[in-house]
Amino acid sequence: GSLEAPGIDSAGPLCAEAFVSNAEFARKSLGAVTHDLFPLLFKASYLLEQGEVIHDLVENWPLFDFNMGKLLGATLDYEEDLSHRTCSVCLESCLTGLRDYVLNQSSPYMKKLKVVDLTGIKDVEVQFCKCKKTMGRWARTQLLSKLCSDLLVYLQQAQCSPGTFEVSINVLIDLFVTERNYELVVQALLKKCSCPLKICCVAFRSDNLTLQKFFYIIKLTDPSLLRKLEIVHNVHLEMEHLEMLFNCIHFPLLMSLTLTVSKYAFPQILYFKEGRGIVDFHLSPLKTPLKMLDVSNCSLNHADMAFLANSFHANHLEALDLSGHDIPELYPSTFFKLLSHCSSVLRSLTLEDCNIQDIHVNMLILGLSPCQKLQEFKFIGNPLSSQALKHLFTFLCELQMLKNVEFPVPRDCYPIGITYPIDDASVCRFDHQKYERVAEELNLILLQANRDDVKASTPLFGSYDAAVQETNNELGAYLIKSFKETLEKFTSSFNKIN
Ligand SMILES: [Zn+2]
Repeated sequence: GSLEAPGIDSAGPLCAEAFVSNAEFARKSLGAVTHDLFPLLFKASYLLEQGEVIHDLVENWPLFDFNMGKLLGATLDYEEDLSHRTCSVCLESCLTGLRDYVLNQSSPYMKKLKVVDLTGIKDVEVQFCKCKKTMGRWARTQLLSKLCSDLLVYLQQAQCSPGTFEVSINVLIDLFVTERNYELVVQALLKKCSCPLKICCVAFRSDNLTLQKFFYIIKLTDPSLLRKLEIVHNVHLEMEHLEMLFNCIHFPLLMSLTLTVSKYAFPQILYFKEGRGIVDFHLSPLKTPLKMLDVSNCSLNHADMAFLANSFHANHLEALDLSGHDIPELYPSTFFKLLSHCSSVLRSLTLEDCNIQDIHVNMLILGLSPCQKLQEFKFIGNPLSSQALKHLFTFLCELQMLKNVEFPVPRDCYPIGITYPIDDASVCRFDHQKYERVAEELNLILLQANRDDVKASTPLFGSYDAAVQETNNELGAYLIKSFKETLEKFTSSFNKIN
């Protein structure tokens, strides 16, 4: 028979919210709540940021799975999508609740939980919650690792019932590892076998890690589960390392690869850093096709591009970012070959700072014409005139799936003689009134073609990167350090010459 808590029936969100808004009452009454009401109560508590109630709900979770994306996403009885709310209070309560789920020996419920999926949480720039504190991907990685380690210590010390050791829960998570949380994550991964909470890494982002540490931890994560790999900023991967990585380690599920130096993270140091040479491109050992590839600012050479255009990945790429490469100069024909190979599936194309000029626009249109699934096209930072942009926009109207366009400030809005890539100090020094006029004309082109579904904008400083935002201090400090070291090396070699 199903018990129902006082004051709550199978009715919707309002009752659930009323129930959880009195934390003390809700916590006391949880034992009488039917299993199928847990998801609704969880969402209501999340909405109202009732940390204690969230903790207790997770601690007593009566179902087989706990999927954050599904629980917080739009549901039939709860339209609001909370999956992009990374509220610190709520997430911390969830994770500590999970730890206590393992430890709790007096829960009235059978311990059925097998899978916890944290990958549905989305980190966004602006979010609204009472505590105004977010817990990003890096902090979630940190906290889960810490809880796993704590749990082991506790289980070794305390007298636990045999049941505790039978609990085994796979926790799916997108890990984000930097130098600062590396040790903690390694410890948690090393002891995975004996820990009831098993970290299953489905996406891995590393930043500010030495190559040695990167190789060590990537092996520990169980690469056979990995779908997405991001190696950014300060991990100095060279050609042979990449080849070694894909030769030594098997990634049967890998679909998305990012190898990048983000231009907008630290523009002032970028040009210095890029002098480090060619990050070559050796994906040949990968046996599954990549759907997403971001190699922005990686200094791919002609051979890299030829390899990519001829590889079987080319036919599967749904998202491609080649920003920071002088495409017309370096590999005009191989790029278009690549584009033609992925044209039937390509959904997102990013070509920022690629030195695309007016004389290249017709070629570009020709190359983009078969890309009928394209939803997003970003090309800020290219030296294109208003006239060329209008020409391009007239064509873009024909791409039926197109939703989002990021276009550059026209070259003729800048003072004569401006050089590309435009440095940070000059990027805002354009004729704003003229830009507004051109932007209006471009929008009119869209409107007249009945394409008011297309959003066109000019984000001068690039798109928001939640991961960079979260680790800004650490990376900033690291970059200043490496900048200083490079300067010192330069000075000492300069002194030797003299
Ligand atoms: Zn909050």
